[in-house]
Amino acid sequence: MYAAGTVIAVGLLLAFPGPTAKRVPYSDFKQMVRAGQVAEVVIDEHRIRGTAKGSNEAFETTRIEDPHLLEELERQGVKFTGETETNWWSNLTAWLLPLIAMILLWGVILRRMNPGQGAIAFERSRAKIYAEDDVKVTFADVAGIDEATEELREVVEFLQNPKKYTNLGGRIPKGVLLLGPPGTGKTLLARAVAGEAHVPFFSLSGSEFVEMFVGVGAARVRDLFAQAESRAPCIIFIDELDALGKTRVASPFGTHEEREQTLNQLLAEMDGFDPRKGVIVMAATNRPEVLDPALLRPGRFDRQVVVDRPDIRGREAILRLHARSVKLAANVDLKVVAARTAGFAGADLANLINEATLLAARKDRQEVAMEDVEEAIDRLLAGLKRKRVMSQHEREIIACHEAGHAIVASLLPGVDPVHKISIVQRGYEALGHTLQLPAEEHYLATRQALLNQLAVLLGGRSAEEIVFQEISTGAQNDLQRATDLARSMVAEYGMSEALGPVAFKGRSRLRFLDVPGIEPEPFAEETARQIDAEIKHLVVEAHTRASGILRERRAILDAVARQLMEREVVEGSEVRALIGQPSSTSQAA
Ligand code: ADP
Ligand code: MG
Ligand code: ZN
Repeated sequence: MYAAGTVIAVGLLLAFPGPTAKRVPYSDFKQMVRAGQVAEVVIDEHRIRGTAKGSNEAFETTRIEDPHLLEELERQGVKFTGETETNWWSNLTAWLLPLIAMILLWGVILRRMNPGQGAIAFERSRAKIYAEDDVKVTFADVAGIDEATEELREVVEFLQNPKKYTNLGGRIPKGVLLLGPPGTGKTLLARAVAGEAHVPFFSLSGSEFVEMFVGVGAARVRDLFAQAESRAPCIIFIDELDALGKTRVASPFGTHEEREQTLNQLLAEMDGFDPRKGVIVMAATNRPEVLDPALLRPGRFDRQVVVDRPDIRGREAILRLHARSVKLAANVDLKVVAARTAGFAGADLANLINEATLLAARKDRQEVAMEDVEEAIDRLLAGLKRKRVMSQHEREIIACHEAGHAIVASLLPGVDPVHKISIVQRGYEALGHTLQLPAEEHYLATRQALLNQLAVLLGGRSAEEIVFQEISTGAQNDLQRATDLARSMVAEYGMSEALGPVAFKGRSRLRFLDVPGIEPEPFAEETARQIDAEIKHLVVEAHTRASGILRERRAILDAVARQLMEREVVEGSEVRALIGQPSSTSQAA
């Protein structure tokens, strides 16, 4: 291969000598000039190129320091020009490459060197950590995560008066780890503890340690604890502890020496200090599973506070808090907003209020209206999910399906009233949705209410059958939910007439799995078959009811579906109006 390639390359060179001129020795060139054979020359820093008289043959020679050349050329009447190097690229690389190489080399050397030497000392002093003395955040700025806040009150009490607290026999926490998903308010809560207790707040992020040179992180930890001790009572807060405190494992690409040194130093400092002095180490992580178990041992982060996503009431409280400084229109119902934002963390809710305010401002409104808030929710939700475009026919099927759910839900008592129906696509699982908001949280449901709920779940599929005489896969989730509900009714709530008021508490779904350690079903195979038959009976009956309701109201079904196709979103009250139901009665579930 190589030989062949070389032969071809040499052949090409011979065939096309290209612009390469004939090289001549300088002495020959000088002779040619004297003999008057040279027509023209171009002289640059290193070379002299020229053409011979008559033949026009190009030649080239290396330039030699020759002060008499110009006189000679002039005498012979040779046309000559000077030329400077115009090859900027080769100039640039000639300078730049060595420079880059040096910088890289410098970096490598720095990383290998120990701290406290030359340039490192500078790096270290620059990275000194300062305490925030007057934290303005308090528990009043935290909402919706009451359990976590309650747990931290004790820490505040201790910081306010460490001596008094220990004299009373309080157990002093040394390290408090806040665990929870991103955006739930962990950082906020840590700051609030400092703000409530009026103590200095040293904070830094675990990732800041890791980017440093070997040994610097450990030195910083030492500095940090020394400083903190001199300013006790105070708080040291390490955000993103996971970046620093990952399990120490040997990696095939060398050890994470820097991180480990820092972590070891942190562990040593935590073991070393006396908690009675009033220093509390707080840390936050959203990935507790990767933490080095050594961090969680007694005397280290032995107090763990879970900061979870807020529930509906928590969300409402957080919304209220962030809407404090925002002018809301009278039609904005934060309860409804809270109900629509399941799964949102505090940061998402803060973001939601902000987004709604921006939308209102863009429309030159004086107040933030419910529309703005709803649009902001849609945007945030859409941002979380991936997009896919539906075909027109798909949209028709989905509109009809959702209309089916909504109509059945609006007609049957005991089910949550429909808030709105939407075929604005957001997720990839549910194509449209019918949003039912619980009128009040209920803990007890009657058999009839559950049967009605079953009918609502089957309303979508029934509508598709009635209008299109076919069914799509869109109803799959409904069927799963209906089956689960029916199973609970039969096996747990004792609501089946055939089986009677007996709870068959068993893992019926594990029936076919022979998992060691899992007890066999506490009921007989025959009973299992009966349960399955009852579930089927309930679901089929619900389907029949839903179909009956919708067949009778085919015109309404079509009207709601048409509205949905037009506007993508239809309010529950509009559905009730189409049915001819005063909205007040259906609201009172
Ligand atoms: P985390 O540290 O858990 O990722 P942050 O504390 O950084 O979350 O939260 C970011 C922002 O979101 C906060 O500054 C605050 O504005 C808002 N926020 C989050 N949780 C809450 C909450 N429970 N109450 C009020 N605001 C919150
Ligand atoms: Mg944080
Ligand atoms: Zn459905």
